[in-house]
Amino acid sequence: MYQAFLIKYGEIGVKGKNRHIFEDTLVSQTANALKPVDGEFCVRKENGRVYVEALSEFDYDEALEALSHVFGIVGICPVVLMEDEGFEDLARRVVSYVGEAFQEQDFTFKVITRRARKNYPMDSMEVSAAVGERLLEAYPKLKVDVHKPQVTLHIEIRNKINLYSKTVPGPGGMPVGSAGRAMLLLSGGIDSPVAGYMIAKRGVKIDAVYFHAPPYTSERAKQKVVDLAKLLAKYTGPIRLHVIHFTEIQLAIYEKCPHDQLTIIMRRYMMKLAEHFAGEDESMGLVTGESIGQVASQTMQSLAVTNEVCTLPVYRPLIGFDKQEIIDVSQKIGTYETSILPFEDCCTIFVAKHPVTKPNLKSILKSESHLADTIGAMMKEAIDTAETIRVEP
Ligand code: ATP
Ligand code: MG
Repeated sequence: MYQAFLIKYGEIGVKGKNRHIFEDTLVSQTANALKPVDGEFCVRKENGRVYVEALSEFDYDEALEALSHVFGIVGICPVVLMEDEGFEDLARRVVSYVGEAFQEQDFTFKVITRRARKNYPMDSMEVSAAVGERLLEAYPKLKVDVHKPQVTLHIEIRNKINLYSKTVPGPGGMPVGSAGRAMLLLSGGIDSPVAGYMIAKRGVKIDAVYFHAPPYTSERAKQKVVDLAKLLAKYTGPIRLHVIHFTEIQLAIYEKCPHDQLTIIMRRYMMKLAEHFAGEDESMGLVTGESIGQVASQTMQSLAVTNEVCTLPVYRPLIGFDKQEIIDVSQKIGTYETSILPFEDCCTIFVAKHPVTKPNLKSILKSESHLADTIGAMMKEAIDTAETIRVEP
């Protein structure tokens, strides 16, 4: 029934002089999202909005699903396109549209007509009034309400005539790529995919690092992270996922540092390595799934000590979220089921029974000094042996 989509965007509409940059990014993100969908589409800017036109038969549900993952979109209106074959034809088609698009024809409505083409023989008010009359004749339970209608039927007379009345909500936010890049520390847990989603929602393009510790973490644990990246990529577009072999470093920390400090020291080396790859990818910040007080390594003191090694800003979009709130988002975005698969991650293998909750930076630095002879070479080795996977949605 539908041949086009009208894309409504909210926040990017208010960006003043830079508005066209945001719109262009939205156009290209929309086109990218539609690439895997069955059918051919043309996406273009038109009169302060984004317009998707199908150039072939297409899978409507797939297209809608793809569009509902594009940040920047607040609403998706499926549009019926028709040739101008005179008013009688138009009225007849609006009547049959209302018959098909709604289960029951017993709502209040109003018709809004706009003419982009002033040579149409009737003016906008006349078209609206006449179409309204035809609808009332065809469906006796309909009522006109010009102030608070349940349904607004839009008729736009352009080269072709556009008819739409429904808006499917989009994810909101800003189009990915409109706000630079960041490097996500992506583990197999619930939190970090949500953190990636949230930062991408603000327009940030993300890459990811995953610290893999074979044989303590299995291939399946790694595959789980790849799967999570794939789910995220539905929203973010392709993600470069750097898989960093972390076993040697972890074992060295385990051997040479006090066990109650393992997690915090490990976290500091993760940050350093993530920064290296952030530099390679021209990322402007790191992103983690940390939230205050969730575990020992996420107390204010622990976060401060972890942060101390970083030179890039570290974004922690979940910092004030309760676990249940994080779970709610992960269910909404479709990562939860994968996140809870029971594969060990490298942090659960080397956790101490009683980790420090208030680490002292001096004491941590002293412990790290035990690694001074070897850590440089091990870091280099981890960088050199990292595997980069391009994860497509
Ligand atoms: P998550 O659910 O994301 O695993 P978590 O509650 O288990 O989080 P931690 O294990 O303390 O928290 O990790 C805190 C953050 O550090 C994670 O959200 C993630 O950003 C990063 N992180 C932890 N382990 C890894 C890993 N193996 N690879 C990449 N990043 C990691
Ligand atoms: Mg974790």
